[in-house]
Amino acid sequence: MLHSINPMSSFQAPSRQVLFCDFDGPIVDVSERYYRTYRLGLSTLEASHQEKHGEVLSLQVLAKNQFWAMKRNRVADTDIAIRSGVPTSLVETFLQQVQRIVNHPHLLQWDALQPGADRAIHQLRQMGIRLVLVTLRHPRQVQAFLQSHDLSQYVDEIFGASDMNAAHLNRAEQKVTLLERAIAAQRGQGYQTEPTCMIGDTEADIIAGQRAGITTVALTSGVRSHAYLERYQPTSIESNLLKAVQSRHMTQVLQAA
Ligand SMILES: [Mg+2]
Repeated sequence: MLHSINPMSSFQAPSRQVLFCDFDGPIVDVSERYYRTYRLGLSTLEASHQEKHGEVLSLQVLAKNQFWAMKRNRVADTDIAIRSGVPTSLVETFLQQVQRIVNHPHLLQWDALQPGADRAIHQLRQMGIRLVLVTLRHPRQVQAFLQSHDLSQYVDEIFGASDMNAAHLNRAEQKVTLLERAIAAQRGQGYQTEPTCMIGDTEADIIAGQRAGITTVALTSGVRSHAYLERYQPTSIESNLLKAVQSRHMTQVLQAA
């Protein structure tokens, strides 16, 4: 039996292919903000302890490279606190303090554009690809950052979390739901989502992409190490967004449309 054919369809422009990409890690380097948050958390804890108990805590502040290496290998925040000399009884207070201040505008200003991310985004536009961000950040924060780097006109849609603390907590299930919603919305608008790809820097992105049955590209430019990402078996691992966009693998996915 023949399918009905829309006589106009052959005259319409082909629908644009969509690429799904995470924000923190591929586009933003959050390492300086997370490190400054950690240091500010420690100094606040030290000051309040001295005020209340009149004694000085003997803290060992980690260097940024030590701190970031621990984060990238998923050392628990509790362990990072203990390694920094926070007494066990004060760890919870310290972590709550970090959670409270990490999204403060004074700290958000330390977010930086990943090297080459702007070039990668421009390149996707030149290739005619629709770029959809799927992130646990609040869309307002994403927009503010993109605008300050003259990139907002190159991002076609943002699916973000309404909870300001979601990105710092990085819950995989939340990412799975968000990506599902993003894919369904693109299909609903007539964009092409087969084949497509999810690019991100954590296990949450890989799991979300795998659950959606799409290609997954993990980046080592973010908050997880190569060795850690490998365990989740993404389709490929690249060092940054530009490398991912220019990879043979990505060209294959994007040309298969
Ligand atoms: Mg990320």
